[in-house]
Amino acid sequence: MVRPSLRVAKTRKVRTPSHTKIRRIDKRTKRPHCSQCGAVLHGVVFGHQSKVRKTSKSERLPSRVHAGYMCSRCLKSGIKAKARATP
Ligand SMILES: [Zn+2]
Repeated sequence: MVRPSLRVAKTRKVRTPSHTKIRRIDKRTKRPHCSQCGAVLHGVVFGHQSKVRKTSKSERLPSRVHAGYMCSRCLKSGIKAKARATP
């Protein structure tokens, strides 16, 4: 079982104008990290799912290759290493 502080989906009670209580699930996404070095990725939208869904596709991720998975520094060194390995 996941520790309550680490849960992504959190329920909260909302009182409507007709005084009926509703449980709403508030989902949020976590800060994206680089798969190689673990640094926080820039230019990637995170937070409440409703906020992420409202943004356009071009605003969500950079248009670069492997955006949202690797930071620019790791990608640069990876491309260099691959280019040097091939004869
Ligand atoms: Zn990295």
